[in-house]
Amino acid sequence: MAKHATSFPIDDNQHVPPDRKTVYKRIDKLMMTKWQHKYDNTTIKTWYKQLEPIVSNKIKFTAKTRHEENEITRIRFECYRSRDTLYKMKQSNDDKCANCPTEVETLTHLLTCHHNNIIDTSGITDPHRQRDNIITILADSKKCHQLYLSL
Ligand SMILES: [Zn+2]
Repeated sequence: MAKHATSFPIDDNQHVPPDRKTVYKRIDKLMMTKWQHKYDNTTIKTWYKQLEPIVSNKIKFTAKTRHEENEITRIRFECYRSRDTLYKMKQSNDDKCANCPTEVETLTHLLTCHHNNIIDTSGITDPHRQRDNIITILADSKKCHQLYLSL
């Protein structure tokens, strides 16, 4: 039987299946493309999309302590425990800033409120520039550490 198989003529146009390594690379590339497409089309986590516009499997933020990583990652994902968030989760009686009774304590307000002295935005009244200022801080690990120390 084997002798019979070797007697077949060799077809140069015969399809040779790719090896396992090539197949895994193609699968990874396809999955990353689909993930990126889905990520690009989502409307949530807008700070984070500016911070990390390209999806990948790498760890995006590390710090010396687990607590710092958690706190900064929550801020980067815009899911920090501000009163606004706690109120929506029914974990707080109101959503107002403790120092500014008329202001809702969103994460942006928490970080930029001059009473908290976390991020100095004095002189910046444009909310888009305030947001860009926060994102600039969150993109820099040294500035993130300073932010963590002032929380
Ligand atoms: Zn305030």
